[in-house]
Amino acid sequence: MADRDGVIWYDGKLVDWRDATTHVLTHSLHYGMGVFEGVRAYETPKGTAIFRLQDHTERLLNSAKIFQMNIGYSAEELNEAQKTVVRENKLKSCYLRPLSFIGSEKLGIAATNNTIHTIVAAWPWGAYLGEDGLTKGIRVKTSSFTRHHVNVSMVRAKASGYYINSIMAHQEAAADGYDEALLLDTDGYASEGAGENLFIVKKGVIYTPDVASCLDGITRNTVLTLAEEEGFKVVQKRITRDEIYTADEAFFTGTAAEVTPIRELDNRPIGAGTRGPVTERLQKRYFDCVKGLDPKHEDWLTLV
Ligand code: PMP
Repeated sequence: MADRDGVIWYDGKLVDWRDATTHVLTHSLHYGMGVFEGVRAYETPKGTAIFRLQDHTERLLNSAKIFQMNIGYSAEELNEAQKTVVRENKLKSCYLRPLSFIGSEKLGIAATNNTIHTIVAAWPWGAYLGEDGLTKGIRVKTSSFTRHHVNVSMVRAKASGYYINSIMAHQEAAADGYDEALLLDTDGYASEGAGENLFIVKKGVIYTPDVASCLDGITRNTVLTLAEEEGFKVVQKRITRDEIYTADEAFFTGTAAEVTPIRELDNRPIGAGTRGPVTERLQKRYFDCVKGLDPKHEDWLTLV
C-alpha cells in the first residue's frame, strides 16, 4: 500500500503518497488508540459522490470524543478533506480511510498531551468479499473469539485496537476455508461479522441484532431505512445461532462489504443456500442509492 502514486491528506496538507510516513514511536502504533472510518465513493450520473459522508464524519468525531482525543478539525473540514482526496487522486469510485492517531511525543500510556494527527487516504477497492460473494453469497463460520464486551471496549467507537479481535476471527475462519467470521457477544448471541453487521430474514420479517455489542453501522442504518420503505417489518433483537441456521435468508452489511448474502453458516445452508429474494431486493435498492439512481435518497450523496 505504501508504494503508490497519489496524494494523502496529512494534518491539513496534501503530501505525496510515498511520503505519508510517521515515526516508529507513534503512540497509536504501540497501544492501538486510533479512530478511523471506512467510507466509499461511487460514480453517479452527476459525477463521483461520497456516500453518507456526514454520517461517517460524525461517527469519526464521536469515536474521538469517546477516547477524549481532540482531532482539532471540524466536521466541515474533515468532509472537505475527504472530497479533496477523491478529487486530487482523480478517483471515479473508491474506498476512503480517514484515521486519527496519537503522535510520538511521549510513549507512556498517559500521553494526554501528544499531538493528534489525522490522515485521509483513498484508493480503488472492489467488492470486499468478492464479486461472486455479492451474487452467490458467502460461507461464514461462527468464531471461537467473542465480540467486545460493552464495559471492556466502548463499542460505539470505531477504533484501531478493536480490530485485533476482528483480525483473529477472520484469520481463524479463513484458515478453515470460510469467507468470513461471525462473532457472538459475551452472552452467546450473534453480534456481527469481523467487519460487517448481520441481518436475517424469516417468514418475511427482517431481524438484526441491536447495537449493544456491535458497531452502529451506517450500511445497517441504510438497509433498515430501505427495508421499511419496502414495507418489511424490521425487528432489532438478540439473535441466536440456531435462529440463523433456520432463517430463510441472511446477509452482512458494511461500507466495504456493501450488502453481501450469507449462503451458509457453520456448514448449514441458509434457506436455499443462495442469495434470497429479500436480500436481492435490498441489495438492489442499496446499489441504486450509492450509485445515484434513487432520486429519493440523493441527500445521502455528496458530490466531490
Ligand atoms: N461492524 C464492524 C466491526 C465493522 O468494522 C464495520 C465496517 N465499518 C461494520 C460493522 C459496518 O459498518 P458500516 O456499515 O458503517 O461500514
